[in-house]
Amino acid sequence: YVPDGAKQRGLNGVNIVLLGPPGAGKGTQGVVLSKSYQIPHISTGDILREAVKSGTPLGKKAKMFMDSGELVPDEVVVGIVVDSLGRDDTKKGYILDGFPRTLKQAEELDAALKRIVSGIDMALYFEIPEDIAIERLTGRRVCKKCGANFHVKNIPPKKEGICDKCGAELFQRPDDKLETVKNRLKVYELQTRPLIEYYTKKGILKKVSGALDVKDLFKELCQIFSDTKLA
Ligand code: AMP
Repeated sequence: YVPDGAKQRGLNGVNIVLLGPPGAGKGTQGVVLSKSYQIPHISTGDILREAVKSGTPLGKKAKMFMDSGELVPDEVVVGIVVDSLGRDDTKKGYILDGFPRTLKQAEELDAALKRIVSGIDMALYFEIPEDIAIERLTGRRVCKKCGANFHVKNIPPKKEGICDKCGAELFQRPDDKLETVKNRLKVYELQTRPLIEYYTKKGILKKVSGALDVKDLFKELCQIFSDTKLA
């Protein structure tokens, strides 16, 4: 889904963090926002999965943690993000998805950004009931080749197990199995939830409902940007 008017929207120099449990729709909105506002979408989960797929030293380090639903160590992930934020295309703003996930990561992000001058402008908190998150994650299927996302019930492919876009096979992410999903949600509660308070204290947290459908949630996000004069 790419909304009408994509490309005309402006969100210049705005730095956004997407916060919320796995399954709340951060990745989906990250892609839509990035296309619409023309700023990069930096997903630590995507970067790590790519590294695992290509078998790089980073991937080898991360795989065990990811498969069990645990967090990859802070120093590894912070390094990835600081590298990404040094890229030229992030000067016009960016959307961080899945990072920070611990207080330590948030603090290190702020410290790194102080060195690069511009800080985080808004943290969007995607709230979602746990049963909906579990249903979304365990039913998710991903294309092996192009990475397109489907859902066995909510977004079924035309032909079971086959990608509508490129015809390749669909698979279930190893960390989308029920037991691992439950652990990811537990890890979120323990390690990531404190960030809600961290960004609330800074006065930049906005709460939205991750249970809305893609278009309605996108509209709400656009409204928030215009109400807060970010776009
Ligand atoms: P995601 O696609 O965002 O749910 O991330 C998938 C997995 O990648 C997580 O369960 C973690 O193992 C790892 N990961 C992604 N982002 C981070 C992060 N900021 N800190 C630690 N681990 C992460």
